[in-house]
Order: sequence, then structure tokens, then C-alpha cells
Amino acid sequence: MSADTIIKPDKETKAETKPGNYFVSNYPPFSFWKEEEVPMVESMLNSPTPGTSPLGIYYHVPFCRKRCHFCYFRVYTDKNSQDVRRYMDATIRELEAYANSPYIAGRKPKFVYFGGGTPSYLSAQQLTELTDRMKAVIPWDEAEEVTFECEPGTLSEKKLEVIKNFGVTRLSLGIENFNDHILETNGRAHRSEEVFRAYEHARNLGFQNINIDLIAGMLEETDDNWTECIEKVLEISPDCITIYQMEVPFNTTIFKSMKDQGKLTAPVADWPTKRRWVTQAYEALEKAGYTVTSAYTAVKDPQNTKFIYRDRLWAGADMVALGVASFGHLGGIHYQNQTHFDQYCETQEETTSAVRRALLTTEDERFVREFILQWKLGRVSPAYFSDKFGVDIKERFSAIFTDWKNAGDLYEEEGDLMLTRDALLRIDSMLHCFFLPQHQYTKYV
Ligand code: SF4
Repeated sequence: MSADTIIKPDKETKAETKPGNYFVSNYPPFSFWKEEEVPMVESMLNSPTPGTSPLGIYYHVPFCRKRCHFCYFRVYTDKNSQDVRRYMDATIRELEAYANSPYIAGRKPKFVYFGGGTPSYLSAQQLTELTDRMKAVIPWDEAEEVTFECEPGTLSEKKLEVIKNFGVTRLSLGIENFNDHILETNGRAHRSEEVFRAYEHARNLGFQNINIDLIAGMLEETDDNWTECIEKVLEISPDCITIYQMEVPFNTTIFKSMKDQGKLTAPVADWPTKRRWVTQAYEALEKAGYTVTSAYTAVKDPQNTKFIYRDRLWAGADMVALGVASFGHLGGIHYQNQTHFDQYCETQEETTSAVRRALLTTEDERFVREFILQWKLGRVSPAYFSDKFGVDIKERFSAIFTDWKNAGDLYEEEGDLMLTRDALLRIDSMLHCFFLPQHQYTKYV
């Protein structure tokens, strides 16, 4: 993933959609991660004692059939099978180096995540080979969850079978919308027919947890179409549904065409409309028995449908990042890999580190990171933060919490701090007030 984020004051998200990122994915902002701190990652990997946090593996597949107009990730649409082979070889070398380091050796992942890009862009044969090789380096037999992101148009029954067989427990389908005109207008490669076919195959194969992604506010979205999308979701009845609110980052096709036309406002619905659409979806889902479990997700069976990758990561787990532009976190150090395909592959061919920038976080930064990320769940536990970091959040942020209570955004329940639904859907725009002074209103980049 790449990010060109400017953190926006809350008031801006009450109106039209301006270019820039809205979603807060990590902390401290990426602009504070530096090349000078890259050697810290190596030192951590060579520290004599292995890490004790739960371990995860993130594998980035940077290939897509087509570039969506709203996409700001590092993806390639022009690579051939030789490039894919070169990439897979590089990532396996990278994994081997991690597995042999004193910090990781002997540890097994609790979660594995294949993200992108489009992991399902790889053929069934490539996927079998890749995952066999990965498991030979670090077995996944203790993984509680293996997530795999898919673009519906790349899924055949055979490929889904392979995906199921190598241990995927959480299949995530990037549907985004059910309307073919909207899919086409937004540059998506798949069409609704492929969605239904892929979903049916996946259901028949018995995946434990099927998630579908939707985006509220794509180009040309309307009230009527959004209502139909919700109806289709209820019809297919996935285990989990994730709804993002459309944002228009700077390095997207949509932004480029706005710039060419001299426009300052993105040609998509404004923030109140997007929040209204998400509210409508959540209300319909709740009526159908779903539970809203975060600002972006609703699940059918909250006891059994977990999202371990998210929950572990937001509680400070270690995560080895494999592949171009990947983000990882080890022993309190954030890092990101080289962001260009050739550069990344060359690092592994020359047996050097793939890490491009890093940040050794302070204890207070780690506290703020977990604290802001957990707000996205809509419930924050003061006991968790006093046990883990020795911070009394009610005392430290009393002025902010008083304001939030007065604004009707916050209440307390069984000792926890809770966001109202309305506040939950604006949470990304509310988090910057917790940032340390040196990180306030900075560019994420
Ligand atoms: S499928 Fe996902 S990663 Fe690929 S271009 Fe579209 S939004 Fe970007």
C-alpha cells in the first residue's frame, strides 16, 4: 500500500469530498518513517531473544487485471508470468531471511494475510507453488486465520478449491458494487455476473468466513442503486460485510482528471451522503440479524466470525511484511519495503534488505497507535490501556471526552467508552486530536 494522506480536520468531512486520504491506517504518520532508521530493523531481527508478541505474515501481491480509477496502491497491470516468477522467488528469499533471524526463528504465525493488489490474480498453479514454498519455510499449522483477498472476475471453481486447500479460512471478495455500469465507470475489472458465480462456488466449497467489500459513494452512485446493493448483500448473506466510504487520494485517476479540469471537489457523493448510505446499510443488516463490529464491518455471527488479522494488529502484534511496498511491524519498529517492483526484486537477488524506511516507535507512540486504531471498533477499554501502558485514558484525554460527550458522540457502558453510531462513521476524522503534537496535521505520504 502507498499513502498520500493529509489528516483532515473533522469539519472538512462534514461536507464535500476533497482530494486526499481520510482513512487513518497507522500511526505515527508515514512521513516520519526514515531511511536512516532502516538498520534498526536488522538490529531487531538479530537481537538474541525471539519476540514474544503474536506473529503474523502479510504477503503483498502487486498485480491487478486493470487499475481502478479510485486506486492509490502500488499495483502493476502489465506483468507477465516471468515477472510473477521473479517476484515469487524474491518473496520466498525474503521470508527465508526472516525465518533464519534470531528474532523470528522457531516462531509460527498466528495469522497470515494475502493482500494486494489482487492475490487471486495468481494462477492456481502459482498459488499452490507459492504457498507450498512458504509453508516449507514457516509452517502455518498454528495460524488461527488465513485471509485471502480476491477480485471476483479472477476466480474459477478450480482456483477457489486450491485457495481452500492451502488453508484459507477468511475469503475476502472485493465486490465494491453490484451494478455493472458503476463497476465500469469506476474502472473495476469484474462484473456482477462474476460476483454471483464466484460467491456461489465459494459458499459450496464451505469457506469458514466469507467477507465482501463494498464502497459507499463510488462514481455515479445513487440512492436507488445503493438500496439495491444492500438488497443483494442480504440475498447472498455473507458472514461479514465491510463498507468503506469512498475517498479520492492524490495519486488516483479520478484526482488526475479533476486536476486537468481544474476542479477542487471530487465528483463523488459528499461525506454526509456517504455516511447516510453506510447508516442505511447497517440498519438493514442489523434488522437481518447482523452485528456492527467496527466502523467498517458488520458480521452475522459475532461469536464465531472474527477478524484476527485486524484485532491482533490493532493490539500491537508483530507482522512480517513480504513483497513490494509492504508494511510491517516488529518489536515496536514500523517499516515499509521498497516501493518499486525492480528495486524490490533486486534487493532479494542481491541478498540485501528490502526495507526502504522505518521508525523505532516510543512507548507513548505505541500507546497512541493502539488507542486510535481501537477507536475504530467503537469501544475502548480504559482497563486495557492502564494494564498494558499504565495510561489512565480518562484522565489524559478528559477534555476531549467531555467535548465528545457534550456533542453526543460518546457514552459509557460497563466501564468502556463507546461511540454512538453517528460518531463511529466519522471516526477517522476524529482521531487526529489524539496524535502527539509533533504529528498533528502532517502529511502521511
Ligand atoms: S483491484 Fe484493488 S488493488 Fe487492484 S487496482 Fe483495483 S483497487 Fe487497486
